[in-house]
Amino acid sequence: MKDNDILEIYQTLLDEMGLQYWWPADTAFEVVVGAILTQQTKWSNVEKAIEDLKIRGLLEPVSLVDVDISLLEELVRCCGFYRQKASRLKNLACFFMQNDMETLFSIPVNELRETLLSIRGVGNETADCIILYAAGRPKFVIDAYTTRIMKCMGTKGSYMQLQQLFEDNLPADVDLYKEYHALIVEYSKAFCSKKRCEDCLLREKIRR
Ligand code: SF4
Repeated sequence: MKDNDILEIYQTLLDEMGLQYWWPADTAFEVVVGAILTQQTKWSNVEKAIEDLKIRGLLEPVSLVDVDISLLEELVRCCGFYRQKASRLKNLACFFMQNDMETLFSIPVNELRETLLSIRGVGNETADCIILYAAGRPKFVIDAYTTRIMKCMGTKGSYMQLQQLFEDNLPADVDLYKEYHALIVEYSKAFCSKKRCEDCLLREKIRR
């Protein structure tokens, strides 16, 4: 890959798909909940669960921490792995009852990342989604879509290696990181997942 490829890919995706305005949520805690629920499922399932939680006033740590676990499991069942996800949501609610969100989200990014990773059920991608979309801090999110696109471009690496590659080649701009990740997801759903490789805009770009 050339040095400016990362920025060029962003520009190509932006030209094709336009701004995505991610992450759709009313509050930072709603982003946190969505980041757990979206693990290994489609966003449409998450939307349904979020709506049901919202109707019951459960999108706040103070209410979520006390909700009956079997009710919570029922509400998130549509997202799959519902027992695990309900338990993870309880954990996070408990964590944010003990740690003021605003204070936590203002500590140095790497410290924040380490803290989030220490919570059971929070891995690299979930932590980085929370940092970028809930805390509004610059941390590039890598997911399976990003890994696949990079592999097509001839670049393989671990989560941390790919994240470093993006962060080294982009300005530390929160809005750009937000849009870039959203564009990768939307492009992948529209092209990669539908096996439209013959029409791939990115491959053409890198080949030239
Ligand atoms: S459309 Fe095909 S070639 Fe292009 S990035 Fe996706 S999987 Fe790779």
